[in-house]
Amino acid sequence: QEANRIIAGIAEQNGVRKIVKGKSMTAEETFLNDHLEAEGFQVTETDLGEWIIQLRHEGPSHMVMPAIHLSRQEVAELFSKITGTDQDPNDIQGMVKVARGRLRQAFLEADMGISGANFAIAQTGTLGLVTNEGNGRLVTTLPRVHVALVGFDKLVPDLASALRILRVLPRNATGQLISTYVTWITGATPSSVTADGKKVFHVVFLDNGRLALAKDPIFASTLRCIRCGACANVCPIYRLVGGHNYGHVYIGAIGLILTYFYHGRKNARAIVQNCLNCQACKAVCPGGIDLPRLIKEVYRNVLQTEGSKPLRNRLLGRVLKDRGLFHFLLRRAWLAQKPVSDGPYLRHMPMLFGAEHSFRRLPVVSAKPLRDRWPRIAPTVAAPRYRIALFAGCLVDFVYPEQAEALLRLLADYRVQVEFPMEQTCCGLPAKMMAENEAAREVAIQNLNAVDPAGYDYVLTLCASCGSHLKENYPKLLAGPPGLGVKVAQLASKVIDFSSFMVDVLQIPPLSHVGASDMVAYHAPCHLCRGLGVTQEPRELLARSGLDYVPSKEEEVCCGFG
Ligand code: SF4
Ligand code: SF4
Repeated sequence: QEANRIIAGIAEQNGVRKIVKGKSMTAEETFLNDHLEAEGFQVTETDLGEWIIQLRHEGPSHMVMPAIHLSRQEVAELFSKITGTDQDPNDIQGMVKVARGRLRQAFLEADMGISGANFAIAQTGTLGLVTNEGNGRLVTTLPRVHVALVGFDKLVPDLASALRILRVLPRNATGQLISTYVTWITGATPSSVTADGKKVFHVVFLDNGRLALAKDPIFASTLRCIRCGACANVCPIYRLVGGHNYGHVYIGAIGLILTYFYHGRKNARAIVQNCLNCQACKAVCPGGIDLPRLIKEVYRNVLQTEGSKPLRNRLLGRVLKDRGLFHFLLRRAWLAQKPVSDGPYLRHMPMLFGAEHSFRRLPVVSAKPLRDRWPRIAPTVAAPRYRIALFAGCLVDFVYPEQAEALLRLLADYRVQVEFPMEQTCCGLPAKMMAENEAAREVAIQNLNAVDPAGYDYVLTLCASCGSHLKENYPKLLAGPPGLGVKVAQLASKVIDFSSFMVDVLQIPPLSHVGASDMVAYHAPCHLCRGLGVTQEPRELLARSGLDYVPSKEEEVCCGFG
């Protein structure tokens, strides 16, 4: 509100009536247009997408492409209405001409231009704008008054830092090496219509929680966001629901975090669980922000502030911490699931999860878990090349124990001694996902005690989610307790997934037991390709198995299981 008032005040002092505006997410954040219009100013958005949504009285659905939710037919319909002439939806050039005609007039009549900035260089006082339509340059040069609304996060120390942003922003935002226009403004530019021959020029810096964020040890990294929008483009949730469902201007992964800081807990509460932890956002973020982790931290903060956790979170945390109870319940689940099972799948989820998860078909719990089969199947290898611990996780232990049996059959040819430490339990990822950090930490300690990494060459996982949680999250979760550092680092360094073990460690030769004509497609688990960074080994394994691997589209896009 304060920033809006300052800008309205500048407009009033300078006798402004008409305002043109360049695209600025910061201005969307403060609802600047609403404020200025309520004060009687006429505001025209000049970015094509922003102008379209302004005419439709909508907010942006994307930080870079604000009208991406609209089809050309919808735009043609809108332009037909405002021009009174039928517009051809296939004549994109014609529609652009309509916009250009209208906007040129607005530029010429405007008394004031409002812009944002992609960076503000502290050393020289220079503002930088990265645009493709040229409207940014017209907004900042034609009117006699220019006001830039700039978030504190856009401040960079020097030109070199600004150029670093310039190198990554167009590439990550629109797939360009450089945008069509880069505008640099240092101080008030010349003007022939003002008394002192210079434009009236103001920069309004917006805090709105940014300075507090900068001091936050966990969330300060979010200020490295350059608003490229890539974390939305790759997010399976954004791709399905679009930007308006995030409720506010910031969308995608960064939106789940910034909404909490800029628009409050209640607004964040409504959306923060819209994350499948697929890690796609983290993989593309040029700021190196660990977005999935911060999203979980926001959820934890929200629950902590509310002071009451949902029943299922508390139950899950309580049960996971107690391995005996957890395994007892899983064994009982085999009996309890009978009325709702349908062959290898459950027909529907237990009532506690029913409403939200009714679309899922979960596999049934096995009649005999791996730990009960182990005494019968445990291998004994004379003079083994490698001694490995199998970390089964709940899924292989209680749902797919036959996967572990298959593993043993495969490894029998390679002199690998496999052990199954019985004290192991769930890796704890579900607790972390539900913001039950305390339970996640306790479970991690139990597993660290159960699987002593010093005794093994590798800790092998068949579940990529377990693997990436052990490798990536355990060191962070257990950073606090003294004495665990060395052990947890050792564990993390020894965790390996099945395909990497077969291809990189055992270097298995090409096999020919499967007919070469068998074609297979491959869908990469998120936590394997992005969590563990393993991409080639599974494909290589398919090739060495004699299968005809056929690449398909979007092999690494999240399956949506979450
Ligand atoms: S969080 Fe990263 S990927 Fe998302 S908009 Fe910001 S810089 Fe781009
Ligand atoms: S982890 Fe995946 S689902 Fe979650 S915000 Fe990032 S891209 Fe979206």
